[in-house]
Amino acid sequence: MAALKLTESYYMKIYISADLEGINGICHSSQTQPTERGFERAVALLHQEVNAVIRGARLGGAREIVVNDAHWDMRNLESERLEPGTTLISGWQKPFSMVSGCAGAAGLASVASGPFDAAYFVGYHAMSGTARGVLSHTYRAKVFLDVSLNGQPVGETGLNAAACGWWGVPLAFLSGDDAVCEEAVDLLGPLECVTVKKAVSRYSAVFAPQEDVIAQLEAGAARALENKNRWRLFRPPSPSTLELTMLDPAMADGAELLPGVRRLSDRQIAVSHNNFSVLFNLMLAIGAIGEGRRDRHF
Ligand SMILES: [Zn+2]
Repeated sequence: MAALKLTESYYMKIYISADLEGINGICHSSQTQPTERGFERAVALLHQEVNAVIRGARLGGAREIVVNDAHWDMRNLESERLEPGTTLISGWQKPFSMVSGCAGAAGLASVASGPFDAAYFVGYHAMSGTARGVLSHTYRAKVFLDVSLNGQPVGETGLNAAACGWWGVPLAFLSGDDAVCEEAVDLLGPLECVTVKKAVSRYSAVFAPQEDVIAQLEAGAARALENKNRWRLFRPPSPSTLELTMLDPAMADGAELLPGVRRLSDRQIAVSHNNFSVLFNLMLAIGAIGEGRRDRHF
């Protein structure tokens, strides 16, 4: 009897970072907040899309799949509602936030049997300041006006792809509105992107028929594993520099207290580091400090 010949991709380990703003059916911030009407439906749609991507990746040959819940308090996804056999990283605070676990472990907890072959970003959105991008923002919408990495404006796609790249994991797939797909291709080059909705403005979108979206996500997620030449390893150089424009100068005052943070202008700070994972954590810390400096009154 001939031995079963397994393709290389059969052994692949796939990491999925799942956000909510870039899911079909969502065009307003209220839909993304746990206390607001419409949130439960948004989370149901999130499960549908994440599950479609998992099924696709399995069709493409992935054997191990780890999903990191990457939205808000990061407790949106429920393990029993995901495709069987899926590992879920849930909750906040966790190291590296939206890309927690992509290095193979979340904190001290290992999440996979070995290094990931590729990362998938699902439900992603355009960077802060994008007028025609559904719910465009970068990490903390009320703190960061702009973020640039080594002089290049970046959003969550760029920052998270850089962190994955630092750990040697290429981005193989992205889904969201047409604005984030364009942003990803502009920054990284040809990449397997599935557009699930078309942005009209920051708060309006044209939603594709849901059954088409699910079919396209499945097909795209499978195709991504067949086309390794479209995988994008976005490895930031050493040292790398992040420039951050804060909403309020008081937020920059707070950030400046951290060692290594330089003040560029009233609103702007810069920080550099040889180790991108340290730089990424500094950005998260600066965001947390900024959040603490928010003025409730004006
Ligand atoms: Zn986000």
